[in-house]
Amino acid sequence: MSDFSTRAIHAGQEFDPTTGAVVPPIYMSSTFVQDGIGGFRGGYEYARGGNPTRDSLQTLLASLEGGTHAYSFASGLAAEDALLRAILAPGDHVLMGNDVYGGTHRLVNRLHVPWGVELSTVEMSNADAVRAAIRPGVTRVLWLETPSNPLMKITDIAALVAIGHEAGAIVVVDNTFATPYLQQPLALGADVVVHSTTKYLGGHSDVIGGAVVLSDEEIAEKVAFLQFGAGAISAPMEAWLTVRGIKTLAVRMDRHSSNAHTIAATVESHPAIERVYYPGLESHPGHEIAARQMSDFGGMLSLALKGGPEAAKRVAEGTEVFQLAESLGGVESLIGYPTEMTHASVKGTELAVPENVIRLSVGIEGIDDLLGDITAALDRA
Ligand SMILES: *Cc1c(COP(=O)(O)O)cnc(C)c1O
Repeated sequence: MSDFSTRAIHAGQEFDPTTGAVVPPIYMSSTFVQDGIGGFRGGYEYARGGNPTRDSLQTLLASLEGGTHAYSFASGLAAEDALLRAILAPGDHVLMGNDVYGGTHRLVNRLHVPWGVELSTVEMSNADAVRAAIRPGVTRVLWLETPSNPLMKITDIAALVAIGHEAGAIVVVDNTFATPYLQQPLALGADVVVHSTTKYLGGHSDVIGGAVVLSDEEIAEKVAFLQFGAGAISAPMEAWLTVRGIKTLAVRMDRHSSNAHTIAATVESHPAIERVYYPGLESHPGHEIAARQMSDFGGMLSLALKGGPEAAKRVAEGTEVFQLAESLGGVESLIGYPTEMTHASVKGTELAVPENVIRLSVGIEGIDDLLGDITAALDRA
């Protein structure tokens, strides 16, 4: 199975051998009968340690990201926390982008820093700035997120991997926005991929989850231990829903990307628009790198309004098909005002988002309805 779309449907998804059910069942069982003490069937003992439904998701995720191991968690942040606690020790330094997902920054800043880890942020799309900020032998983690949120900045993964490795750091890529369908960080040299599977992988806004994918045996063992030892596992129903979503990832991403591209290109010339942030546009400063490391540009875009914060809020509250809500990556289109929604926790800090910016998670509805909706709201901005 070499084709991505085939693996998305079949990897880890063998039919049920007892009944022939095409879709593997959801194993809602906390424990497993032993054939004599220690006689485990298929290795299953107690479901914090392992459950067949979680395994089927993990096998699928490893296949799609090209890793040897995947571990799924109760949320994206639970996955990130397990990874970071697996690899960090007091005194270690973490370097991340100054526009990293707010919850990721909060996680390290509020939970790991008090424990003795050092955190600093840098303009990650500027390789020289990263070279100046990284501390050889001290920086343990270089954390990349590309495209970033909400300004869709693009980081050159291969170039940053070289800088990170030269300094002795583990390079982690949050691949939530791009998904493995559009971008393969491990193939570009990254050590670890993390996901909020809540977003495009689940794809239907009906499940919270996260994952860590990697091929490094030593780190994998530590993450596996934290998954079992701290227990922030994904539950069977959540794992199954995520698998269910992933089967259509390829076709969804094609449609997300084409809808977003059309909207970005169309509204770029609208009189209410100051700037469109979409890596698929040639006007985007990261366009060339994105075109090199991504197979398409995805479904996320942001718009800066000439009319300032008031105009931005009017547009965010003025659409009908685009629903005003946090989160992203579902089949339905969402609109948000980052300053007071997704990025409220970083308001007033160096991570703050311009106050005239709105963010769109472009869904897979009909493009005419989406364009009509956003254009009408912009006309009223
Ligand atoms: C949502 C998100 C997270 C956090 O994931 P949860 O599932 O909400 O815990 C991390 N990174 C990115 C890029 C996200 O969009």
